[in-house]
Amino acid sequence: MPKETRSTCPYCGVGCGVIIESTGDEITGVRGDPDHPANFGRLCTKGSTLHLTASHAVTRQTRLLHPMQRAQRGATPQRISWDSALDFASDKFAQVIRDHGPDAVGFYISGQLLTEDYYVFNKLAKGLIGTNNVDTNSRLCMSSAVAGYKQTLGADAPPCCYDDVNHAQCIFIVGSNTSYAHPILFRRIEDAKAANPALKIIFCDPRRTDTAGIADLYLPIQPGTDVSLFNGLLHIMLWEGWTQPAYIAEHTSGFETLKATVRDYTPDLVADTCDIKKEDLFTAARLFATSAATLSLYCQGLNQSSSGTAKNAALINLHLATAQIGKPGAGPFSLTGQPNAMGGREVGGLANLLSAHRDLANPQHRAEVAALWGVLSVPEKPGKTAVEMFQATADGEIKALWIACTNPAQSMPDQATVRRALERAELVVVQEAFATPSTCDYADLLLPATTWGEKTGTVTNSERRISRVRPAVPAPSEARHDWAIAMAFAQRLEKLLPVQKISTLFPWSTGGETAAVESIWNEHRESTRGRDLDITGMSYAMLDAAPQQWPLKEGETTGKVRLYEDGIFPTEDGRARFVNTVYKPVAEPRESRYPFSLTTGRLRDQWHGMSRTGTLGRLFGHVAEPSIQMNAQDMARRLLKDGDLVHVTSKRGSIVVPLQASPEVAVSQAFMAMHWGDDYLSGLSSQGERLAGVNALTTSAYCPSSKQPELKHAAVKILKA
Ligand code: SF4
Repeated sequence: MPKETRSTCPYCGVGCGVIIESTGDEITGVRGDPDHPANFGRLCTKGSTLHLTASHAVTRQTRLLHPMQRAQRGATPQRISWDSALDFASDKFAQVIRDHGPDAVGFYISGQLLTEDYYVFNKLAKGLIGTNNVDTNSRLCMSSAVAGYKQTLGADAPPCCYDDVNHAQCIFIVGSNTSYAHPILFRRIEDAKAANPALKIIFCDPRRTDTAGIADLYLPIQPGTDVSLFNGLLHIMLWEGWTQPAYIAEHTSGFETLKATVRDYTPDLVADTCDIKKEDLFTAARLFATSAATLSLYCQGLNQSSSGTAKNAALINLHLATAQIGKPGAGPFSLTGQPNAMGGREVGGLANLLSAHRDLANPQHRAEVAALWGVLSVPEKPGKTAVEMFQATADGEIKALWIACTNPAQSMPDQATVRRALERAELVVVQEAFATPSTCDYADLLLPATTWGEKTGTVTNSERRISRVRPAVPAPSEARHDWAIAMAFAQRLEKLLPVQKISTLFPWSTGGETAAVESIWNEHRESTRGRDLDITGMSYAMLDAAPQQWPLKEGETTGKVRLYEDGIFPTEDGRARFVNTVYKPVAEPRESRYPFSLTTGRLRDQWHGMSRTGTLGRLFGHVAEPSIQMNAQDMARRLLKDGDLVHVTSKRGSIVVPLQASPEVAVSQAFMAMHWGDDYLSGLSSQGERLAGVNALTTSAYCPSSKQPELKHAAVKILKA
């Protein structure tokens, strides 16, 4: 009989429970956990093939199994011992910090890390080294949602839960191909629609994706025009008397200013800006405002934008104006892309945040975290966010970079700048489970990490539910856990730096893995006391019995299913705040030389840079190779046909890729999936440097509030190769 271990799927923010089957040191099977409230036993194609990506036959080809060092860039890395690797890294980091100050180093981590891993990295950077230069690929995923929630509702807390799908009478899906990106949540929406045919679904996206198939109303807006749409909907709601003045008066502030602003967003103007029918605008406004319960589901289409925070806030404005919040089936529900983007936010693992949703800019919050960690202070200066961190490295300001569990050489926008940064850095340390990501080519030091099926800890899904992640098999070869690598490095560095501390910073025992990880969890848990995400009542023992939603305070037995049911918000006056959102076009509008709007997104069966999913032939059955999709009318006008090779060129780079006609893509637009990297799709920068994949083309323009880059839109030209 194989051993069975309950854990969590490592792919997306739905956070499905899995049961891993293993024999000896090999994972042999996986199935959905029928008791997990995120999925009740269901898994999508990615989740249900996890075991095949973890078999020995695959991992022998793909895993990084020993610490490796390059004598110089471009050389073949050579195996070294863990002691030598950690000594080398700590000596070099200490030297850079002594010579250039703590802000000359940076840590770029990942929403794939477990909460405990995240906690150690954050304490290492902000508590030990004294730099806030710790940011994460969650910046590319969720930071606009964070800023949107904080500006409007007062805290980075999604107020809804998955069960709200079953209570909604109207679901507004915007900027999310839920069918592909969050498949098990989409199954829940399909079930809700089947059980309640009166449920109305509005789908809004420039692309008519698979998700549109379930919609009663489809709004094919132009890329980046969401704020105009949301303000236009509010204009109509006000005109028609569909807002809720009593709720607005009792529970919110700032409405009069917004009301004056949306007066200008007339139906004619908005229909023209968004390129949608005026009558559809009225239908959407009516369905949203007058349904008994309206739930919005949104993701990267809103977040990955130079107006990302405004888009989030404008949508939340609609929920506040119509009182579609704080009741079953209603509220603004941001879907997290990564499995633990939420956990990273909870420990403050971003350059502008501190533990337990504290703000770096708040002196009281800095003092609280310093006291919790036993250091004299936490630095005040904001750290470099993802785009800024690589720009600062390219400029020579950051000299040593530590990258964990992410592949910025493929996944960051404006890839040319990122690859230049990696080349210029004096030291690049890459802590990775896989040997295949492009970023490994730039590493001076490669540190082998454990991954799904081997690690213990916790993750938080989109509905604030914390689940346990458990190991089914031991770490392969010399791979170590991410938290343990960060801690071993930190303990060495602590001896080399003049740290003023009151207590031991990294006290967790490495003797017993689960005990050590639980100690880290307990420290994080204590940091949440009195905060909006207070989990002081949540223990590993409780999580071992069942996943739990936060907050869950000491003395409580279950978490909060839904937030703000009492109409009181975590702001100074207890009122939610309307944000005066103003529409701004995309950062790089299409123009005569670059006449197409390139949008990017996920495929159904691939994940991120394909380190894991790319190892399985069967996951290429859905889409076998990269392509750029265009509307057939555009192709006919340019005498292009299916299968033609085309040059796709933006101001930053160019790639050559096969062309595919797609009815999903509107005229003057094009679409490419984000997954294909160096092994599939090579390109060149405008200066002739080697690049790969769609991020050879994308822009690093970002939202001024969230600093999340506009990965969803770039202006390109498409010419026959
Ligand atoms: Fe995993 Fe997401 Fe699929 Fe669930 S929906 S099985 S979490 S990839």
